[in-house]
Amino acid sequence: MEGESEDVSNKDGAVEDTLEEKLCKLIVSDDQPVEEAPAEEPAPEESVSPSVPEVVERYSRKVFVGGLPPDIDEDGIISSFQRFGPLIVDWPYKAQCRSYFPPKGYAFLLFENEKSVEELVKACVRDDERLQFWVSSPSISHKAVQIRPWKLSDNDYVLDRTVPVDPRKTVFVGGLPRTLSAAEVAQIMTRLYGTVCYAGIDTDPELRYPKGTASVAFSHRDSYIEAIKTRYVTLRQDGRKCTSDKRVEIKPYIWDDQNCDNCQTTGLGSKPAHFFCSNISCLRYYCLDCWLLMHARPDIKFHSPDYIRRMSTRWS
Ligand SMILES: [Zn+2]
Ligand SMILES: [Zn+2]
Repeated sequence: MEGESEDVSNKDGAVEDTLEEKLCKLIVSDDQPVEEAPAEEPAPEESVSPSVPEVVERYSRKVFVGGLPPDIDEDGIISSFQRFGPLIVDWPYKAQCRSYFPPKGYAFLLFENEKSVEELVKACVRDDERLQFWVSSPSISHKAVQIRPWKLSDNDYVLDRTVPVDPRKTVFVGGLPRTLSAAEVAQIMTRLYGTVCYAGIDTDPELRYPKGTASVAFSHRDSYIEAIKTRYVTLRQDGRKCTSDKRVEIKPYIWDDQNCDNCQTTGLGSKPAHFFCSNISCLRYYCLDCWLLMHARPDIKFHSPDYIRRMSTRWS
């Protein structure tokens, strides 16, 4: 469901301006010094053997189209794109706004088959990193629109596959622009808090399109704590990936299958955790007994638990 506004082009629905600024130039507010991201080493050029099969890019079946002519309606959009395969057209609050025209000059194409997206991408003209396609409306013929497919390879970023993700160093990030790839989220978080070893963009299970949230695992616990302490960070508009200032929220990522951190230290075996304490002085998983024990102290009695719904265990 599209419940939130999408990062789009400027108000008149025109295609976003092309800016050379790369993501590393995203200015982060909250007066935090932003270190220059280390320059990425250029990938060594390898001669590709003709026998190596070409890697086929996989896509979400949902595609953003921006900069539509103001008088193109749903039927017009469908007829512009149906040569690639069956589709429906959607935009935020479509059912409520009762309009046949996408009100902000952008819409989503929901194709029945992923193959259609591949074909659409092939038919587009690439301008820098943008894809352009042309549509016609009653008043404008042959208008360039921006096509923004979501590549499934952008869902995950892994620094080192041999290092397992540590739940106690993982944060949940909400309010992200849905244009950011996992690698870009990792890059932002690394610059802000320290090395990120994993980033995963949450996508909806059916269309596999980003939901605007992600999980990010750091290499070091200090980075995790620092990120949670900050809680909110503003990604400044850069015109390309972040078309308006976005306030991003960072919280502990709470896993539902962890054992109590306190029993673990007693050597008597660890019980399944039913609570997580998000207070910065705790940030730990607890079973009921340990929660009560550890929060009996008057100075931390006020901590409020996050309940964990365990799928596989019952309340003890
Ligand atoms: Zn315990
Ligand atoms: Zn606590």
